[in-house]
Parts: sequence; structure tokens; C-alpha cells
Amino acid sequence: MEKLYFIPGSQDLYGEECLKQVAADCREMVDFLNEKLAGIVEVVLMPTVETSEICIADCRKASVDDECVGVITWMHTFSPAKMWIKGLQELRKPLLHLHTQANEKLPYDTIDMDFMNLNQAAHGDREYGFILARMGIAHEVAAGYYKNARVLEKICRFARVCKAIACSRNLKVAAFGNNMREVAVTDGDRVESQIRYGWEVNYYALGDLVKIIDAVTEEEIDAKMAEYESKYTMATDNIAAVREQAKYEVALDKFLEKKHIGAFTDTFQDLHGMKQLPGIAAQNLMAKGIGFGPEGDYKISAFSAVLMKMAEGQPGATGFIEDYTYDLTEGQELELASHMLEVPPAFAATKPEIQVHPLGIGGKEDPARLVFDGVTGDGIQVTMVDMGTHFRIICADIELVKQPAPMPKLPVARIMYRHKPNFEIGTAAWCYAGGAHHSVVSTTLTRADIAMFARLTGTELICIGDDTTEADLAKYYM
Ligand code: MN
Repeated sequence: MEKLYFIPGSQDLYGEECLKQVAADCREMVDFLNEKLAGIVEVVLMPTVETSEICIADCRKASVDDECVGVITWMHTFSPAKMWIKGLQELRKPLLHLHTQANEKLPYDTIDMDFMNLNQAAHGDREYGFILARMGIAHEVAAGYYKNARVLEKICRFARVCKAIACSRNLKVAAFGNNMREVAVTDGDRVESQIRYGWEVNYYALGDLVKIIDAVTEEEIDAKMAEYESKYTMATDNIAAVREQAKYEVALDKFLEKKHIGAFTDTFQDLHGMKQLPGIAAQNLMAKGIGFGPEGDYKISAFSAVLMKMAEGQPGATGFIEDYTYDLTEGQELELASHMLEVPPAFAATKPEIQVHPLGIGGKEDPARLVFDGVTGDGIQVTMVDMGTHFRIICADIELVKQPAPMPKLPVARIMYRHKPNFEIGTAAWCYAGGAHHSVVSTTLTRADIAMFARLTGTELICIGDDTTEADLAKYYM
């Protein structure tokens, strides 16, 4: 289980008695947080920072512990912030400054100077906040009584975002083939991606995968087919085409697992040695949290793996999608989002059907794919683009809706959504911001989750939603 380190601040000026009380209060707070964060992370209480040396030791330990995904700090008393400088310089984990108190209410009848000296986050957290600001350390602040629902919600969000950032820093992406010829938005600076997000994006020859594909046994294919039949409805007589996909998935699974790779890309322009473009193979892998980017889109492959990790264990759907076509009926505009094949089954509102149809491009055999209608509800659409000088995340609030009519001839899975605040402003803002046609849609995550990820990774963020106005559009057009 991933851990958050809880590092409280004080100083040795107050005497033994006071420090004992600090430790006891922190214990109580950490026990409470562990109860509330059960199943997400474990909170570990660290020695109270009384000196610079303790701070350095705490921060070093957090930085080298692979299970530690983030750090929570809180100044129970005043804790002179020069004591924190050297420790914070060594801290390499996301940081949450919890601005709270052990007591909710002031004990008006009994309050004296001892009480005030013991409980002075109002004082100590400002001193500490200054040094974080002065040092330019990316962090979050959660302010309020620590048992308040809103404060807890922010701490929970921090825990999930920390797990996603840890996943990001450890993520390896296999690129089978290169970026699709001539396409701009899916490309990017892989070196900068690794520096900022940790993504190790490396090219692998498709021939190496084909070798593994060719070695897959009939028994392995049978087992994968049994999995497909238990999860999906077989709606084709072309079982051979489905078995071909099962073979691809078994091989991809082996390849990714052996090299500890959590995301991959492929491209229909490079399928040498394969009879079909991976369809259900990619879809079923996405259902297991593996990131996927078509047309060599390494950014959306990695980013989708990170956001699936952020959403893990919560209700709703999160996955890759592509903007495809619109219904532009005035005032009722809708978007139909899908892909050639590879729509994650997380979006399925109905039991996915396995179907086999021809593919218009690529010149290969008819690929098997999962077909279904999409889920509904409030969601977000998120993408990442490379602006040359920096990465930019764009996050738009959307409403996923039921498709207004059946689409019996459309041979791919699809979702439909409405843009906010309306089509005109919402899609124009996306275009002005340079938003890609590949994105991650989630009915689990919110703008607040993405904003926290952007702040903690130092990424530019543009949000689009009900609060976006016509005047805002000018801001994106630079
Ligand atoms: Mn695409």
C-alpha cells in the first residue's frame, strides 16, 4: 500500500511537556486520517521537526522510500522555517501543507498562554507557508479543521493525485512504430516528458512483437477467448478474426509485463507481420489500466495510464477517446467521440459486442473490435499538448449524453457529449487553446483533480466550463 508521510513541525524551545502533547495530538490526527483514507493510502507519522537535522532526516526518508508517494506537513506550534530549508531542498515527493488545528473550537473559559503557545498553526503555518513560497516549491494547501468534510476531501484528492504522480514517475511507454506521418498534435518532446513526468518513452520494433505473437499457443488463445466470452457478447461468426486479436493481446501482455511497461502506442501505418490492427486486444488491455495511444500518440498513452491510476477504485469511467464528428443542430449541438476501433470498454453503457468489420484504412484484414453505446453523466475531457516551450493541459467540463437515436451502421463503440458552457464557446476555447483530437474522458475525475496534478507537476492548465465566457477566448489567442 502506498504511503503518505505526515511530518509535523514544532521546535525544542517549548520544553518536553509541550512536545509530548504535540506528538500525542499528531498521533490522534494520523489515526483519524488512516481511518478516513483506508484503501487509498496509509498515513505514517514521522518524528516532529524540532531541529533542522530532524527535518533533513524526515525529508530524506520520504524521498528514498519507494512506497511513499507524498508528504503532509502541519505546524502544530511555531516552527521557525529556516529549520525547514535544507530538508525541503531534499524533498522529492509531492507536498500538502495541512493548515489546521488539533482543536476545533477555542476553549474560551480556560484558554491561557500555554494553550495559545501549543496551538498556534495560525502563526506557525504562515511562517512555513512563507518558506514554501520563497523557495518556489510546488505544493497544495488544505485549510480548515482536519475532520471537516471539505478538508478531508482535499486530503483524499491529494492522496489519489500523489498515487497518479508516482505512477507517472515510474511509467514506461512502448512505442510500436513512430508517430503517424505528418501529424503534429500527437507528437512531442520525449526528453522533456521524461524530465517533467518521468515517462520513459522508447521505440520497439514491431518485428520483435510479431515474434512473440507467432509463438503464442492455441491453449493461450483459448484462455483469452474464454475471458472475452465471459465479459462480452460474441456477435460474429468470424471467430478466426477474434482469435487473431486474442493472440495479439496475449503477446502484448507478455511483452509489456516482461519489460514493466504500463502504456503503449501503435500505428496503422506500421503493422508489418500482423493481419489486423489491434482492436479488442487494445480495448481489453485498456480495461486493465494499460495506457494506449493510437497513431503513435505517446502523450495520450502515458497520460491516460496516469489518469486511470488517479481514478482507480472509484465509480465511473476513465479512458482514451478521439473527437470525431458533430451534430450541429443549433442550440442542441452534440459531439460523437470514438475511434477507428480502440474505445475503452470502461465507457460501455451496454454489454460490449464483439464484432468484425472491414477497416477503411491500413489495408489489412477485417479487425475484431468491441462495439457499445456510451455511459452518461457529468465528466471532463482532458488532453496534453506540447507548445514547444512547455506542455499544456486542457481540461473541459462536458456532459455525456445518451445517443439520440440508434446508429446501426456504425461499427465502433462511441460516446456522445455536450460541451460547456455551450458548443460555440466550449469548442472554440478548445481550438484556441490548441487542444488535441485525442484526449482522456472521465466521469470519475473532476477539474479539481486535474488542477492539482497540473500544480504539483508545474504544468500549464487551461480550463473550460460553465465559467468560460466569450471574453475568455481572447486570453487563449496569443
Ligand atoms: Mn486517432
